[in-house]
Amino acid sequence: MSDCIFCKIAAGDIPCNKVYEDEHVVAFHDIRPIAPVHFLIIPKLHVASLAECGPEHTALLGHIMTLVPKLAHEQGLAHGFKTGINTGRGGGQEVFHLHVHVFGHKA
Ligand code: 5GP
Ligand code: ZN
Repeated sequence: MSDCIFCKIAAGDIPCNKVYEDEHVVAFHDIRPIAPVHFLIIPKLHVASLAECGPEHTALLGHIMTLVPKLAHEQGLAHGFKTGINTGRGGGQEVFHLHVHVFGHKA
C-alpha cells in the first residue's frame, strides 16, 4: 500500500523508534504515547485491520500476540501492561494498517 504510513515504516522509508524487528513484524514506540511506555507491533504485511483478518492470518496474529509479553518485559513492563487493537472507525482506529498497542508504566 503506497500511501500507508505503517507500510512506509515497515519498509524503512519513514523513520521510527524501533523496539524490535523480524521477518514478519516491526515494533516501534508510538509517536503520541498515552503512557510512559507505549509501543506498537505491526505486521510487515499490509492488513487494514483485525476485521480483515481470516484463517490465513492465524499464524501471524499468534506471532504478534506472543511477542507482546516478551517485548513488554524488555521495555520495562515486567509487572504488567495494557494492550489494545482499535478496529474500524467506530473502534477509534486512525491508521488502517493492523497494529497492537502495548502500553504501561515501568515497575
Ligand atoms: P489507532 O488509533 O489507529 O489505533 O492508533 C494509531 C497510532 O499510531 C496512534 O497512537 C498514533 O499516535 C500512532 N502513529 C500515527 N502515525 C505515526 C507515526 O508516523 N509514527 C509513530 N511512531 N506512530 C504513529
Ligand atoms: Zn500498510
